[in-house]
Amino acid sequence: MHLDSITRRRFLKGVGLSALAAAVKRQKTHVITLSFDDGFRKSSLETAKIFEKHGLSACINVIATAHHDDFVPPDDYHRFPVGDFGLWNELVARGHEVMPHGYKHQNLTEVPLRVAKDLIMRCLDYFCEALNGFEPQQAIFNFPYNASSPAIEEWLADQVKAFRTGYAQINALPHAGQKKLICSSYGPGNIDSFLSEEINRFLASSGGWLIFNAHGLDEEGWGPLSASHLDRLLSELKTIEKVLIIPTGRALAAV
Ligand SMILES: [Zn+2]
Repeated sequence: MHLDSITRRRFLKGVGLSALAAAVKRQKTHVITLSFDDGFRKSSLETAKIFEKHGLSACINVIATAHHDDFVPPDDYHRFPVGDFGLWNELVARGHEVMPHGYKHQNLTEVPLRVAKDLIMRCLDYFCEALNGFEPQQAIFNFPYNASSPAIEEWLADQVKAFRTGYAQINALPHAGQKKLICSSYGPGNIDSFLSEEINRFLASSGGWLIFNAHGLDEEGWGPLSASHLDRLLSELKTIEKVLIIPTGRALAAV
């Protein structure tokens, strides 16, 4: 009897807490993911540091083989030094999210479907080997160039939790079974004012989930964001009651 009542109290306490969590979540009508691609070493370290300063987790998407000596950068925007899986494991251990952004940053719409599937599987296999705790079924695959086709998407939906592609900005709030995530992005120059305007438009809307695809900080990559601007943006956003700032994988793991 005694044990039963303790179990029951624990159960009720558990229900109470999850009801509270759900209520808190319901107030978050504007979910924002700032999704940083390409894995530049300096930018990734700085991005993680800024998110940590605000008690938040960064969402960083990296190319499986970009740290290899024989990696051929797909264009000039990828000429900056990148991190390796030593760094990605460190960032994951610090509470950040690191997700796949292709095997070698090939535009998967420009190769035969069979090659596209092979490159994605090689990318996921590489992550399984190299990144602690990585599981494809919990992963968000971030298409290089946000370029995908219906055929790749249909096949990929069964391989991963969800995938991010282009181009529009507002998704439905995170929910179970959500496979296709659409992001907006901007470049090739500095994105500070564009991003602020995009977020202001979103905050004035009825809500949903804004996924913005950024790249490096300051001078690095396509469409760089100033580190100081990111810092200011996060400090403003986290004071807004209705806003939740969260990486894509974590948003979907919570539903
Ligand atoms: Zn990229």
